Order: sequence, then structure tokens, then C-alpha cells
Amino acid sequence: MIDVLIVGGGIGGLALAQGLHKHGVNVAVYERERRRDDRVDRYRLAINPAGSRSLRACLPDQRWQAFVDTAGRPGGGFGFLGTDLRELVLVEDAIMYPDDPDPAERAYPVDRHTLRGILLDGLDDAVHYNKAFERYELAADGRPTAHFADGTSATGDVLVGADGINSRLRAQYLPTATRRETGAVGVGLKLPLNDTTRAWLPARLAQGMNLVLTGAPHFLFTSVFERHEPAGDDYLLCAFVAHNDLLPPHPERLDGAQLKAHIAGLITGWHPSLRQLIDQCPLSEVSAFPFQASDRPAPWTPSRVTVLGDAVHGMPPAGGNGANAALRDAALLTRQLSQAAGGQLPLLDAIGGYETEMRAYGFQAVELAMKTLQQGLMSNPVNVFFSRSWFRLCSITPPLRRMTFGTSWAKVSAPRQWERAAITP
Ligand SMILES: Cc1cc2nc3c(=O)[nH]c(=O)nc-3n(C[C@H](O)[C@H](O)[C@H](O)COP(=O)(O)OP(=O)(O)OC[C@H]3O[C@@H](n4cnc5c(N)ncnc54)[C@H](O)[C@@H]3O)c2cc1C
Repeated sequence: MIDVLIVGGGIGGLALAQGLHKHGVNVAVYERERRRDDRVDRYRLAINPAGSRSLRACLPDQRWQAFVDTAGRPGGGFGFLGTDLRELVLVEDAIMYPDDPDPAERAYPVDRHTLRGILLDGLDDAVHYNKAFERYELAADGRPTAHFADGTSATGDVLVGADGINSRLRAQYLPTATRRETGAVGVGLKLPLNDTTRAWLPARLAQGMNLVLTGAPHFLFTSVFERHEPAGDDYLLCAFVAHNDLLPPHPERLDGAQLKAHIAGLITGWHPSLRQLIDQCPLSEVSAFPFQASDRPAPWTPSRVTVLGDAVHGMPPAGGNGANAALRDAALLTRQLSQAAGGQLPLLDAIGGYETEMRAYGFQAVELAMKTLQQGLMSNPVNVFFSRSWFRLCSITPPLRRMTFGTSWAKVSAPRQWERAAITP
């Protein structure tokens, strides 16, 4: 038997805890938030088939069913629009993720807060709040001890850093695994979807996901979250993404009114409904965050300390892959550590196997996110002209559409070899 300590109770850390718990491995999670609902992050996450497959592997049946039941309504496709709201091309859901009879091989829109609640269920005794990780040390036999800001510590057989993009654990363990500013900043906004807002919101914006391309170094992404059963909390998540130069320094320090005023100044020529959309988002739902991306580290020698999720392969949310990659890490590390706990694999081989595979798909996802971000911010007039012409061609030619848009989504979420073996029959 092994004792696993996880630092960080976010999407990846909790999924790993669920997976280990399901396989009877001892696990404890140390989260710096003071209590379960200290911070309520209510935004839509696009879970792709890799994320679903990983959740299916980590969650017990009943919690997997809760995930499926609370997911939002799928559909609506992905629209690429101009600032006049004219559709350049609409990519159907079937192109992004071909329909699959297995629910664990489908994509789902989910509310992050709801997902985190499902991931916390059943872990009451395992999750310790108000435990801000500060540092770890290794005993002579390699066993790690984690030290927390409140002066307490915990010792186990394996220590996993799942403490997000600003990971302190990664900073100590892999000081050369750096991250960089991408030069872009995202301003998140949210419009409640109700009878009043639906009355003026253009039909296309009230469906699926959309990218409003501007030909300038900024764009607007929108995505609808609608529950199957009306609960009065449906919303349209928006992200206005811009090159750093277009917003003042440290935009994360600006309040909602200041951020909206800056955006309003950049979108004066846009369709009135798009301007109304920005204007109508409640101020309390507006915040900015500079986009960062992890640099690919050189492979390291495995030890009893490891990392997962944003802590190692952080990426801008362009393309929606960060949570999916963190979930995949959780499923793979569950598999490896439960084999080690069962004596089928030496512990360091199990961790090393996880890290080699994680670096491959994790940094593939970082590269895809960076490419998606750069395409969105494209402002060179020649490139803009060609990409718009291509989109229009794709719009009238389904095979071209499939070829252009199908591959990147499908590639990042296609089952990897170890996942194929584990796919539920
Ligand atoms: C607006 C937005 C939209 C997004 N949309 C998508 C999407 O559609 N699809 C997708 O796949 N991804 C999306 N992402 C990215 C996704 O949310 C992240 O990639 C994902 O949450 C990473 O999971 P994680 O477990 O690695 O880190 P997190 O979920 O960030 O969890 C880290 C946890 O560690 C805790 N922690 C931090 N420091 C310490 C410490 N010192 N001690 C103890 N605990 C600590 C934090 O409190 C937190 O609970 C989006 C992100 C944003 C901001």
C-alpha cells in the first residue's frame, strides 16, 4: 500500500484523488482555500472526449452519472463570425467530435463549479482545507514531507503537485520548468441567459461556441451554458482576448467598470448587439487574467515527487484543453500509482511512465493552445484576407471544413494507446 499526498484540490488534483480512492489507494489532498466554497468559479468548461474518458476512469459509476446528468446541453457548433456578426463558417459538432455511442467518448459543456462539487463528493475525509503548501523535503529513503503555511506537515510515499499554473511545488521540484507570458490577456465576462437577454441576443450568439474575428490583435469568444433542466442559472460565457498593448499594464488589477470601458473603446465599430453584449455583462462578472504558457522542460529523472495539470503544462484557455489535459493526467497517474500500490510496477517506474506520456500529450496541448491563440490574434492584413477566404470556402465545402477543423480537435482528444485498452465496453 502507498500513501499519496496531493497539493491542490482543483480539477486535476481532485480527479486524481477520486481515481485513487476508487482503486483503494490512500490519498490526502491539501488545498489552500479555507473551505469548500471559498471561491466559486462559475464558468463553462468544454470537456472533450479525452476529459470525459478520464472522468469515467476516475469516478465511481454514480458520480460519473452525476457528471453526465449535470452537464449542459450540447450542440450549437462552433461559429466563426465577423464583427458585423456575419457568419464566416459554422463548424458542426459532428466535425469537432464525431458522435460516439459510448457516453465516455463524447464532449460535454460543464459548469466548473458543478464539476468541482462532483469531484469533491465522497472525499470529505481526504480533503484538508486551509493548507497552503510552502515547500517539501525528502528523507534519506526518498519519502517526501510537505510543509504548509500553518506550520503543519504531512509525510507520504508520493507527493503530487496539482497546485495550478503558479505551482510552488513545481518551482521547487523543477526550477528549470519555466512559464512565460504569452503577450495576451483575457477578460472574462458573463451574461445571464434569461427571457430578457434572450430577447435581444442574436440567435447565433445564443448557441454553441463562437469566435468573433476582428482582423486586429483582439477577438471575442462566446460559449453558452444551458442546463438540461431549467435552473435559472444559464449563462453566456465571453472572453475578450487582446494583445497586452491594447490594455493598460496589469489589467488584472482593474475593476469590472474599468475593463468594460477599455473594451468598449476597442469595439466601437462592431455590430451593436456585440457592443450591447459587453455592456450588459454584470460588473461583478468581469475580470482579467494575463495568459501564460509553460515551457517544455527537458525530461527529468523520476522520483517520489511529481506534478500534474496546469502546474506542469499550463496553457492559455484558447482551444479549451487545460482541464482536459489535467483530467488525463489524473486518469493516467491513477492507473500507474494503483499498479504500483498493487505491486505490479516498481513505484519509480510507474511515476516515470506517467511523466513520459504526460509530457507528450500535455505539451502537444500547450502548442495547440498557443497556435489557436495566435490565429485568433492575427492582424496581418494578407493573412487575415487568406484565412477569411479559406473560412468562406470551408463554409460551402463540407469535406474542406472537415479537413480544416476536424483534425486538430480530434487529434488532441483521440484515445492514446493506454486509454484504448481501458475504454469501457
Ligand atoms: C475562463 C476559463 C475558461 C476555461 N475553459 C476551459 C475549457 O473550456 N476547457 C478546458 O479544458 N480548460 C479550460 N480552462 C482551463 C482550466 O480551467 C485549467 O486548465 C484547469 O483548471 C487546470 O486544472 P488544475 O487542477 O491543474 O489546476 P486548478 O484547477 O487551477 O487547481 C489548482 C488548485 O491548487 C490550489 N493551490 C494553488 N496553490 C496552492 C498551494 N500553495 N497550496 C495548496 N493549494 C494550492 C488552488 O487553490 C486550486 O484549487 C479554462 C480556464 C479559464 C480561466
